[in-house]
Amino acid sequence: MRVRHILANNPSPMTGTGTNSYLVGEGTVALIDPGPNDPAHLAALLAALDPGENVAAILVTHAHLDHTGLTRALIAATSAPVFAFGDCHSGRSAVMQTHMANGLTGGGEGVDPAFAPDRLLTDGQILTLGNLTIEVLHTPGHMGGHLCFACEGQLFSGDHVMGWASSLVSPPDGDMGAYMTSLRRLATRDWHIIHPGHGAPIQDPAARLATLIAHRETREAEIMTALTAHPGTAEMLAARIYTETPQALLPAATRNVLAHLIDLASRNRVTCTGPLTADSMFFPA
Ligand SMILES: [Zn+2]
Repeated sequence: MRVRHILANNPSPMTGTGTNSYLVGEGTVALIDPGPNDPAHLAALLAALDPGENVAAILVTHAHLDHTGLTRALIAATSAPVFAFGDCHSGRSAVMQTHMANGLTGGGEGVDPAFAPDRLLTDGQILTLGNLTIEVLHTPGHMGGHLCFACEGQLFSGDHVMGWASSLVSPPDGDMGAYMTSLRRLATRDWHIIHPGHGAPIQDPAARLATLIAHRETREAEIMTALTAHPGTAEMLAARIYTETPQALLPAATRNVLAHLIDLASRNRVTCTGPLTADSMFFPA
């Protein structure tokens, strides 16, 4: 199976070297993740196609602007339909919706509110595009509507699994309980290689998945230890735990800690006074 990798020129602390777009197959191809709204990236994607090749579908892992910004321009250039799980709010859990109704705020980093796919995909669906057979995996966690795409033992993982960094999990878009469930589910399968939304291909998928799961379990244990010493808000706990994180990344770290606290609360390991919000003071349960 031919995989062409086209890197967008949008490097940053949150995107690493930039967003990866992929052309999968030959002749009739699937395009995975349009990338940011940048004419140079559009030109690079179109130039990567061989003469006469047809983009049969634009597959989108999730509705963050660094993945979807170029969608409209790509539709205009290729006439291909856009397939995704749903819009930027799709797939949000009932627990997260309850917290939002009770005053949980924040999140929404980089979300594309205008994203509207032509066709909605569901977990386990098999797409047949020319000679390509692509399996759809719903992997909520980084975002409720996040999808991974599998083809011939190769996984296109979007922002769910990356080699260079762990994923931002910022409630209410991000859901730590769902993220861990999605990671553990991927770890039950045998992958040859993982092509992430940012960074280099992951050549040792099983080891990387195990590392990511262990990293979050360690973080959760650190949060419980810190909370047992002193109750705190997500912000206070992030400052105490992420002692080596650059100041600019502490707000993202705070969102990750809040995601852990929401997950811990749903498992009755921590509690807070009043409804759970971004500023709640948490205690061990
Ligand atoms: Zn993302």
